[in-house]
Amino acid sequence: MDNRIIITAAVTGSNPTKEMNPAVPYTPKEIAAAAVQCHKAGAAIAHIHVRDPNTGKPAFEKALFKEVLDRIRDRCDMLVNLTTSGLHLSGPDAIAQRLEPVSLKPDMCSLDLGSMNFRDRVFSNPPQWSREAAKCMAENGVKPEIEVFEPGHIRQAVDLVKGGMILPPPAFQLCMGVYWGIEASVESLLFMKNRLPDDCCWSVLGIGPAQLSMITMGILLGGHIRVGFEDNIYRKKGVLAESNAEMVDMAADLAVRLGREVATPAQAREILGLPY
Ligand code: ZN
Repeated sequence: MDNRIIITAAVTGSNPTKEMNPAVPYTPKEIAAAAVQCHKAGAAIAHIHVRDPNTGKPAFEKALFKEVLDRIRDRCDMLVNLTTSGLHLSGPDAIAQRLEPVSLKPDMCSLDLGSMNFRDRVFSNPPQWSREAAKCMAENGVKPEIEVFEPGHIRQAVDLVKGGMILPPPAFQLCMGVYWGIEASVESLLFMKNRLPDDCCWSVLGIGPAQLSMITMGILLGGHIRVGFEDNIYRKKGVLAESNAEMVDMAADLAVRLGREVATPAQAREILGLPY
């Protein structure tokens, strides 16, 4: 087992608001600053969504993604992973819009490949989307982070890997406890992990109160982990986290206590098979 562990910080997502936790970043400047702080605390990757700078509502403008990417790259060498989930986009142009962040050539982009109910809406990822997205990422030299919310998504990803659409090693993010994906339990995580292909990289996240138990399992099982406000805004029950970096710091401390070594961005590139 590679003892090194990659910590991803998902600093804003599209759900939490400043009303829920005043530290949730909205503007590109705030989002980039949060990511850089997380880098200092031990995160090798920043997973980025963007918000309307004034209202905080989920946004998907390429210019906002570009500003965040540029601001992070100006200040540190952490890997940047831009979302392509576009959960709030719809209509005939949705696929093209979802792929706009890929053209900015970040290090990674999230790749969702199964349709599902996602809280109060349908998260639509038809097969033509996942094939087109995988192709676009390969053409732009962007590594896909395959987000899986239930076991069927792993089967679809394996099919794309076998078809040569995703280059090895495939990188999975096991998303545990999203409403309405697989629940965040010890049994479910083991079930998901045991269905992954050999020689893949995998990371795990847990939603809300499941964050700590899921990342602890990830650390113990030799995986990588993700924390941050996208998944959870609390330090512990009833106590808000002061920053994303506080969560990264907690996760890094836990990983080290349990015998893992926190990967630098350069090490993360090597583990994920990215070019330098
Ligand atoms: Zn995301």
